Amino acid sequence: MKRRIVIVGGGIAGIAAAVRVAEAGCTPIVIETRKRLGGRATSFVDPRTDELLDNCQHVVMGCCTNLLDLYDRLGVLELIDWHRTFYWTDGGGRIDRMQAGKLPAPLHLLGSMKRMTVLNRDERRAVARCMFRIVRLGGVGRQKWAGRTFDTFLKEHAQPQSAVDRFWNVVVVSACNLDVSCVDAAAALHVFQEGFLANKWSYMMGLPVVPLVDLYDTANEIIAQHGGELLLSTSAKSIGFDGRRVTGVVTGDGLIDASAVIAAVAPDRLAKLVSELLRKADARLQSLEEYTFSPILGVHLKYTSSIMDVPHLTLVDAPNGTQWLFNKSYADLECTVQHIHAVVSAADEWMELDEAAIVERVADDIQHALPKSVGLRPIGARAVKEKRATFAATPAVQRLRPPCAPGFVGLGGGGVENLFLAGDWCDTGWPATMEGAARSGYAAAAAATEKGGLVEDVPAGLLARVLGLRGVGAQG
Ligand SMILES: Cc1cc2nc3c(=O)[nH]c(=O)nc-3n(C[C@H](O)[C@H](O)[C@H](O)COP(=O)(O)OP(=O)(O)OC[C@H]3O[C@@H](n4cnc5c(N)ncnc54)[C@H](O)[C@@H]3O)c2cc1C
Repeated sequence: MKRRIVIVGGGIAGIAAAVRVAEAGCTPIVIETRKRLGGRATSFVDPRTDELLDNCQHVVMGCCTNLLDLYDRLGVLELIDWHRTFYWTDGGGRIDRMQAGKLPAPLHLLGSMKRMTVLNRDERRAVARCMFRIVRLGGVGRQKWAGRTFDTFLKEHAQPQSAVDRFWNVVVVSACNLDVSCVDAAAALHVFQEGFLANKWSYMMGLPVVPLVDLYDTANEIIAQHGGELLLSTSAKSIGFDGRRVTGVVTGDGLIDASAVIAAVAPDRLAKLVSELLRKADARLQSLEEYTFSPILGVHLKYTSSIMDVPHLTLVDAPNGTQWLFNKSYADLECTVQHIHAVVSAADEWMELDEAAIVERVADDIQHALPKSVGLRPIGARAVKEKRATFAATPAVQRLRPPCAPGFVGLGGGGVENLFLAGDWCDTGWPATMEGAARSGYAAAAAATEKGGLVEDVPAGLLARVLGLRGVGAQG
């Protein structure tokens, strides 16, 4: 008899867990509330236009080895289009290009950063000095900054406020969905060390060329091939517990019994699935209500003429605070309507605005950034607010993140032996990202089946290691 493992949640973490559970020779049963897979990284049909839209642009980086491995297993790796140039503007149509040059990591971006006009000479020098300090810290030094905010780190390293506003915060808000004044310093340092400094190709940006939901089509086949089942439109109501072990998952149709359960839902959802008895038995379940979250806003806009010539653009100091533009029509040379997707992370101030006000503001920022759009208004728009887009990686929340595996009961942090946790909020060492979710799914599946494990990180380059980036790329 194959072991049956029930996975609650069909987001990236649940999909990653299911694929690896199946490959380990066990039977995965995936329970997902919604009609489709992908969780927060998925698509929806816009009822106004019947168009399939992503809830928000999702970006993958070269350092996301576990997510890329998952895409490979799902057979969709070639649906990711890779970009080695980041485009930046502070308005007026002036566009800087940040890309790797000939120098090895961690110096590969230096040449293009020297030419960036969004920073003046003093700001560029300050950023370069601080980057060197971040290299020298290595992985061990980074961990010593856990528990303090990243702006404390930046102040200690004499960063002028203008460099914070025009560079550090721009990167940190995009990657961690939190301002430098709130984000845990170790979490932010992780982004720079792993994403930008350790390896020449880690910073590269991958964008799916299909709607996000299409990336998960083959998951159902993999699950079914191994005798498993994907139960869409089915909600878990509770996790069964006999006082010692979890027994399965209760849905509207009764208990689905299992030899192990992988809970791959957000902490606030998990809180609703566990009894008091189960909570008391598992140290990882004690703080589920203490997580705070940070919102992201995505806005789809349609223009009747081509207003944007680059595939994506980072906006520095946009008057209303729009941060990214993605040109969704970039590959379509014959398009008559250009589809622009605007993104605002840490979007607290936007959450109370109605769609008309949001579109007005974003369209103004687009005019500021792209001269070709001056005088034009979008002919169609759809704003998507995700109030609980990601957990807020503050020092307080970072401390709460639990391991995926139960560990040893009685040694602090112990848990119920056949309950495994997954989700971007678990302690993977990564920010709240698809990579964090994929890592957690792989880690939970490995612990539950005692087979498989995480994929190797991209190794730090030789010069990066010699200069101090040792212990970076260590598995979370
Ligand atoms: C707007 C936005 C933009 C983002 N941009 C990026 C980006 O560019 N790059 C990046 O890497 N990350 C990005 N992220 C973060 C990324 O989407 C998440 O980190 C990742 O998708 C989390 O996956 P998960 O599986 O942990 O959780 P989820 O995606 O939340 O999956 C949990 C699943 O569980 C289901 N569920 C909940 N309760 C139950 C229940 N009782 N029974 C059954 N099912 C249940 C939910 O419906 C959901 O499908 C973004 C997130 C948002 C919201």
